[in-house]
Amino acid sequence: MSQWDKIIPKPRTTFVQVKCPDCGNEQSIFSHIANTVKCNICGTVLAEPTGGKAKFKGEVVKALE
Ligand SMILES: [Zn+2]
Repeated sequence: MSQWDKIIPKPRTTFVQVKCPDCGNEQSIFSHIANTVKCNICGTVLAEPTGGKAKFKGEVVKALE
């Protein structure tokens, strides 16, 4: 094991790409949010904070780690 393995912590947060159920816009959203995230195009709520990992309202297309 190299020294770097001990120093650099593994990231515990990720971005996910969520598809808006209303307009089909795909948007990258932080997995741990503090505030409600809305679609940039139509304003539909895409993710709500839960205190931990966000609750996604749209289809999660992929996780971007
Ligand atoms: Zn939308």
